[in-house]
Amino acid sequence: MQTKAPLGRHFASDNYAGICPEAFAAMTQANRGHEVSYGEDTWTAKAADLIREVFETECEVFFVFNGTSANSLSLASLCQSYHSILCHEIAHVEGSECGAPEFFANGTKVLLLPGADGKIDHKSIERAVNRRADIHFPKARALSLTQVTEVGTAYSLDELGALANAARHFNLRIQMDGARFANAVASLGVAPKQITWQAGVDVLCFGGSKNGIALGEAVVFFNRELAQEFDYRCKQGGQLASKMRFLSAPWVGMLQDGAWLRHAAHSNAMAKRLEAAIRPLPGIRISYPVQSNAVFAKIPDAVVGEMHRRGWRFYTRIGGWEESRLMCSWDTTPEDVDAFAADLRELSVPDQGVGAQAK
Ligand SMILES: *Cc1c(COP(=O)(O)O)cnc(C)c1O
Repeated sequence: MQTKAPLGRHFASDNYAGICPEAFAAMTQANRGHEVSYGEDTWTAKAADLIREVFETECEVFFVFNGTSANSLSLASLCQSYHSILCHEIAHVEGSECGAPEFFANGTKVLLLPGADGKIDHKSIERAVNRRADIHFPKARALSLTQVTEVGTAYSLDELGALANAARHFNLRIQMDGARFANAVASLGVAPKQITWQAGVDVLCFGGSKNGIALGEAVVFFNRELAQEFDYRCKQGGQLASKMRFLSAPWVGMLQDGAWLRHAAHSNAMAKRLEAAIRPLPGIRISYPVQSNAVFAKIPDAVVGEMHRRGWRFYTRIGGWEESRLMCSWDTTPEDVDAFAADLRELSVPDQGVGAQAK
């Protein structure tokens, strides 16, 4: 298919992008000679130490292959099978993990909470916990927060504080799905500790793939007691890499000189540029505040169809949303954004209609 996308880059997902140079260089270095297997190597130790530095605290760190396993295994370590996990109704944990959290937690029920802009309304926690307090209903034990959310919004410090208060009050442990945690830190301009352990987060799934590494996420236990025997859980769940250094070395490349935050800030800035370019276009409506590397926009179906025919890839109506989701990544360039926006502008001329433009 002919594509207008410069260098074949797209806005479908931040996981369409390749491996960033810093992560790749570390993998190349890790590829020199032999190393001890199953995480007993120097790269894994170094990567875990760098994560402790980034969060300015002692914590237990595990490297796994993907976000679904990071979420599922970490949630399983917070709950017994008769407990429940509270999360937002559009959370990845609920809608995009094929029931893995329930499976790995041996049947722990996931209960859904509402809230605008993809964020849990803290008042809904009390309602969910108090709705049923009898022996016949699974007892709420964990709160799962996505930072940034599935629609690219970021929980502010105040919002996290209110959620943490409610969680503490009802004795809920907090798990954070941080598939795009770097984008949150860059967007909020905070220290990583402020939106994690200082905000009551017990365990963070720190995303690597969407930030620019090949694959892998770090599971970071700030509540170190909860990490007990997590290594067994990883192994049983098929998440203990024998050549662990290739999961961990990229983290060294990302963290040692701040590349993780540079890339996140860049992809956030590209999303802002995209938003600014397409917000004024007739027929286009931006759906949520742009606070990370995602722009959700309502784009007329005919325009979406023509953009796809021109070779631009992006998702529309995934997960039941009516919007198109436009994701920027570490390697999105201003030229990519401008070329996409120029096509959209050409197709979004009022009165003449899409038919006239689509020839
Ligand atoms: C991408 C993503 C994940 C991880 O998904 P995997 O495909 O399992 O790596 C988790 N949570 C959110 C919010 C995501 O966007």
